[in-house]
Amino acid sequence: MSGLLENKNIVIMGVRNKWSISWGIAEKAAKEGAKLIFTCEAAKSIENTKKLVCELGDFEVIECDVSVDESIERAFDKIKQKYGVIHGVSHGIAHAFTEDLRDEFIKTSREGFLHALNVSAYSLVGVSRYARELMTEGGSIITLTYLGGEKVIKNYNVMGVAKAALDCSVRYLANDLGGEHIKVNAISAGPIKTLAAKGIGDFNTILEAVKEKAPLRRNVTIEDVGNTATYLFSDLSSGVTGEIIHLDCGYSIMGL
Ligand code: NAD
Repeated sequence: MSGLLENKNIVIMGVRNKWSISWGIAEKAAKEGAKLIFTCEAAKSIENTKKLVCELGDFEVIECDVSVDESIERAFDKIKQKYGVIHGVSHGIAHAFTEDLRDEFIKTSREGFLHALNVSAYSLVGVSRYARELMTEGGSIITLTYLGGEKVIKNYNVMGVAKAALDCSVRYLANDLGGEHIKVNAISAGPIKTLAAKGIGDFNTILEAVKEKAPLRRNVTIEDVGNTATYLFSDLSSGVTGEIIHLDCGYSIMGL
């Protein structure tokens, strides 16, 4: 352990299992000395998440459904009471209806569109608003995005639109919070086989295409994401905010 994140309280949102990108972030942050506070979507998942995260340390798990303002408020109130100050938030949360991720984008229903944008993009705004109050010593907010918000990627559909809104929210939030020494950045991770990714039609084809074309000739791992997140949480990234960092083995630089 080199202690890059010693004395930092970091909220990790979005660990579902050990394949979750947020798990890679939590593992590395814990190794670097951070005190972690986990949130999970539903009260019924708290015990399972506790069992999962206990190998990283004696860390708290709190319910937070990001589609409900009161749930975000309750979660950050609890965090405030127990920890007072936080220095980081990792927002690793997204959701769209499965039927919207395997057919033409044009068929997206109003309900499906609003759901995806609500859970996957607006939630960062809501979470940042409450996190800000606890970041009295400055801080770093990180979210996870994907190239499908910049370019058309087959089947990514409404989630691409949500990621475009998320990317833009990162820039506006960075401007709002910069004066309080709070950085806001997104990691645009290459494709990784997680439960959320399984919902995207033909996901294995995407993995193969990236492996073949990316300059590093491989797919990224959750450990890669953990490394970049640690950099963003740490003081090494002191002048970096409002950025979408492509962590994709170079795939996004390629033309033909
Ligand atoms: P995952 O399924 O492990 O994580 C998604 C998380 O979102 C889960 O923990 C789930 O509980 C949570 N969630 C969904 N709705 C919620 C709600 N209403 N309230 C609170 N939590 C809620 O999948 P993942 O791939 O680790 O996804 C994490 C993030 O990474 C997402 O934003 C995803 O879009 C992004 N991302 C994933 C990939 C990939 O290829 N897997 C690539 C780039 C970006």
